[in-house]
Amino acid sequence: MVRRIFGPVPSRRLGLSLGVNNIPPKICSYSCVYCQVGRTITLSIERRPFYDPREIAQEVGEAARRTSFDYVTFVPDGEPTLDSNLGLEAKLVRDESDRPIAVITNSSLIWLEDVYRDLLEFDYVSVKLDAVSYDVWRRLNRPHPDLKLDAILDSLVRLSKERRGTLTTETMLVDLMNTDSKELEGIADMLADIRPEKAYIATPIRPPAELWVRPPSEEKLVEAYRSFSTRLGEDNVELLNVPEPPDFVVLGEPEDYVLRTTMVHPLRLEYAERILPEGNLHKLVEEGLLATVEYEGEMFVVRRIRSRS
Ligand code: SF4
Repeated sequence: MVRRIFGPVPSRRLGLSLGVNNIPPKICSYSCVYCQVGRTITLSIERRPFYDPREIAQEVGEAARRTSFDYVTFVPDGEPTLDSNLGLEAKLVRDESDRPIAVITNSSLIWLEDVYRDLLEFDYVSVKLDAVSYDVWRRLNRPHPDLKLDAILDSLVRLSKERRGTLTTETMLVDLMNTDSKELEGIADMLADIRPEKAYIATPIRPPAELWVRPPSEEKLVEAYRSFSTRLGEDNVELLNVPEPPDFVVLGEPEDYVLRTTMVHPLRLEYAERILPEGNLHKLVEEGLLATVEYEGEMFVVRRIRSRS
């Protein structure tokens, strides 16, 4: 029997999350160059049923009786909104599990009224916003040819006004694709219109669909963080997927604090120097764990996301 649930897995955003894989691999409306599931096999924007919604709800219900978790999250190996039963599944799963329901979507089908309505069923919606210019979007997300970026962006703003639950955004930064200042500013302006509870900035750290994909420079990561947080406030912007400190590093408390905090956002250099014992910052930079970056006259400490070669 095909099992459509996995986990629970710990998630920084959602606590302990029970995953629902409601799309067979790999059917998507995008074929992002950085996709960790590989290139899209079926590029589609046609919604259709994939599995019996009652069976999915039953699997979740069984898991809820066996184990504890905070969220049920629709996060398949493809685009969850391609499932025409998504809204019904959200309702059934909530009834069966009595837990809040989340969905991680690429947002490409949100302009379809039935998809839009389905998304309103969720307690937590994470939408993708990697680009605001047509050309960057086309090269980075490699959308189905019938998709229109303007319609997607307009619907994101509409969802932000009419949502019932939490709305967050996720922006994957890929070196030399969506990292120029004009694109970052454009994304920041769009975020200001959407006003998500949290705008997450991600970097590709798992093997991508295209091997030439590279994470952004630490300078670009800080630029994106500063640009987004200027519009939204620092508490509303966080880094995701920034490499964790390796286990073999034996850390004292201040070092551990700096390494873990810089996974979430850049720290002002002056602050890091104040809490770290003398010489330790230099040591962490030398070990390749941290990098110092200047942005608009201020110095920041960030997790090193590129290997030093
Ligand atoms: S939208 Fe998600 S699943 Fe689809 S290609 Fe992009 S990263 Fe992969």
